[in-house]
Amino acid sequence: MNLLNFVSQYPDEASCKAKFKEYRDQQGVVCPHCGSTEHYWKQDKESYQCKKCGYRQSLRANTVMHGSQLPFRYWFIAIHLLTSTKKSFSATELQRQLGHKRYEPIWCMLHKLRSVMGERDGQYTLSGVIELDEGFFSTETEDDQKDKPVKRGRGSQKKSKVLVMAESHPVDGKTTKKGKPRQVGHLKMIVIDDLKSQTITSLVGKNITKTSVIDSDNSTSYRQLRDIVEEHRPKVIPKNEIGKMLPWVHIAISNAKRMLLDVFHDIKPEYLQYYLNEFCYKFNRRYFGENLFDRLMIASVSYKNHFRYNNG
Ligand SMILES: [Zn+2]
Repeated sequence: MNLLNFVSQYPDEASCKAKFKEYRDQQGVVCPHCGSTEHYWKQDKESYQCKKCGYRQSLRANTVMHGSQLPFRYWFIAIHLLTSTKKSFSATELQRQLGHKRYEPIWCMLHKLRSVMGERDGQYTLSGVIELDEGFFSTETEDDQKDKPVKRGRGSQKKSKVLVMAESHPVDGKTTKKGKPRQVGHLKMIVIDDLKSQTITSLVGKNITKTSVIDSDNSTSYRQLRDIVEEHRPKVIPKNEIGKMLPWVHIAISNAKRMLLDVFHDIKPEYLQYYLNEFCYKFNRRYFGENLFDRLMIASVSYKNHFRYNNG
């Protein structure tokens, strides 16, 4: 959908509201009180009323818009931009384009959308051959850390640790020196607090199937992985060989870093996950083309956002 189509399809608040309701009805409305899926639509209150227990919820309740005061059309515009731009855009840019007075609600809206992207991708379990590595992303130093001397390298207060997993599956084609041709599938990037073996093993266990094969370096953080998958193939990987031995995670990490650097500045560590959600969501749906708007709409009505703004 290009900009002209978007504008003619969603010319005003009423058209956006009607379309949002259509998406919600298609996905099914669930009563948060009793779990029933049968509802009356109360047009005068713009709410759903549960047929079983009478509980009422607004059109926005339990969706990405839960608790939001912003117009539906703002959300539609944000979803359109998030799914039609190659890289991304900043909240400052969107605020300027919308001519909205305050920055914070626009910034929150984008993070709420990134939150449902994460929820959606969180449902997916990786399988096949999985490359696994850690990425170290530059983030803004926390205020209470600013006076402390900066540690260098891996332990630096300015780097956030991210566990990266990329699955690949064999495709038809000739076997070359590198082996049978493989195509990358889904990608996951998860911010982690530490590199303890226990932390990593538990996260990997939650995100990949037991029949998977894992390729990684021989870090001690990974030594329990062989207990939870079919095969773990740790290798000594010299720094200049990483692109060859773990090609997909390597490309993904450097592309994500470039996107963050180009579009956003001074990302606080607690919000890094949201930006990575967007990066992975787009990567995982890179062949969807025009359907991406639809997909993000469906995720937006299906998941209540869990974004929490920490302004304390
Ligand atoms: Zn109910």
